Amino acid sequence: MYRILLGFLAVGALGIALGSEPAGPEALDRRVMVEVDKDSQLLGNLTHLCDVIGPRLTGSANLKRANDWAAQKMKDYGLSNVHQEPWLLPEGWERGPASARLIEPDNGVRLSVASLAWTQGTNGPIRGEVVAIDATDAKELAAFKGKLKGAIVLAGRPVELLPLAEIEKQGKSVTVASKQKGPQPTAQAARGLPKARDEFFRQEGVAAILSDAGKHFGLLFTTGSWEGKERPSAIPRLPTLFVAHPHYQLLHRLAKRPAPAKTIIEIDVRNKFIPGPIAVNNTVGEIRGSDKPDEVVVIGAHLDSWDLGQGAVDNGTGSTIVLEAARMLVKSGVQPRRTIRFILFTGEEQGLKGSQAYVEKHKDELPRISACVVHDTGTGKCLGLSCAMTPALKQVEAELISLKPLGVTEYRTQSIGGSDHYSFEKAGIPGFFFKQEVAGYRFAHHSQADTLDRAEEASLRQGAQAMAVTALRIANYEGLLKRGKSAPKAPS
Ligand SMILES: [Zn+2]
Repeated sequence: MYRILLGFLAVGALGIALGSEPAGPEALDRRVMVEVDKDSQLLGNLTHLCDVIGPRLTGSANLKRANDWAAQKMKDYGLSNVHQEPWLLPEGWERGPASARLIEPDNGVRLSVASLAWTQGTNGPIRGEVVAIDATDAKELAAFKGKLKGAIVLAGRPVELLPLAEIEKQGKSVTVASKQKGPQPTAQAARGLPKARDEFFRQEGVAAILSDAGKHFGLLFTTGSWEGKERPSAIPRLPTLFVAHPHYQLLHRLAKRPAPAKTIIEIDVRNKFIPGPIAVNNTVGEIRGSDKPDEVVVIGAHLDSWDLGQGAVDNGTGSTIVLEAARMLVKSGVQPRRTIRFILFTGEEQGLKGSQAYVEKHKDELPRISACVVHDTGTGKCLGLSCAMTPALKQVEAELISLKPLGVTEYRTQSIGGSDHYSFEKAGIPGFFFKQEVAGYRFAHHSQADTLDRAEEASLRQGAQAMAVTALRIANYEGLLKRGKSAPKAPS
């Protein structure tokens, strides 16, 4: 017994000396994944980002503070080459107070509203008659010719909200997809209200546009992106407000009353454009590859957020997962063959501005970037990955055996345009996007309910494990991932 025991101990000791497990890829995955349980920084980091730094509008001082904080974290975690990479935002924007109240009928209701971002204010309070425009095509719109001077228009019928349980199941949208002919107005459609309609409103001398926030429980919604590199203030745009769904319904009912009933409201919106260009940073750090350091896998999330809530699930969660994956990989001591580059992008909410600038600036390096992997659907557990390039997706699916027991099992050829991996995809690089449990994301998205209380630590840990292992496997793959034609972009 004694000898046997001694022999057993000796083997055990040897095992420890060499690393307690054989260094196969799955053992390496395990070495990385256990790090999340030892000293997880996820919730602490997310809390700091939400509570101390706050919402991180692109171009704001808050975002700059977040960049500096993230760079320090990257350094603390042992990343190399930590730096800020600036890009130019054509101009900044500050949300001022926005108020709206009913004048006629004089029912005392103060309407809950939020401005479309990067739009101008009203230069003081304005009053106007509310006109409901249910038009779904140019012909119906023409009926309003000459009737809208000074009007405050409701751009479309109130949306039809899906039951919350249904959103959790489908995860797609908070509104019912159109079964009627013509486009169904949705909150998202207001991001770029049909150009013809906008143009018509301007020509007719409309004073302001109201759009249904399209969310449950009277939550507000904001967004505001623009194409290209122009100054958004140079794009002629009317003051545009999202109105909480029940208030929008109220206005619509009132406005639809037969004459001589009139519906008049007063609105006062005080936004401010901040002259640009303004240098905004993407925050970057690396684990340098041991074997092919010039070949790179990019792991990313956007650090910027909208400003109605705290930017917790869009996208504090993804940002802290990227930082946590960095910490875990360094701590594990596992040496990736290729360089893993961690990037916290900015200007995502204004139309992927930061990642686009990054891809342009790194043109010469693009042939050596194997993939870009992004986490950007909130706190929900990772269920799988989508990628527009089937061959690369298949290669990655075959690698990620260790993630199966974690529930990462769904791999789909799909081009999803809504986040920073898409900037890489457009440049011909496989862009991967985590498919996640909905976990309240749709309901909180871009609203004042995007707050820390939505975060679920267990699923964030799972996300960090999924992110870290995906990065490691792509970094250690036999070659760069295959490139190919992208599947067509899915409608968002
Ligand atoms: Zn996002």
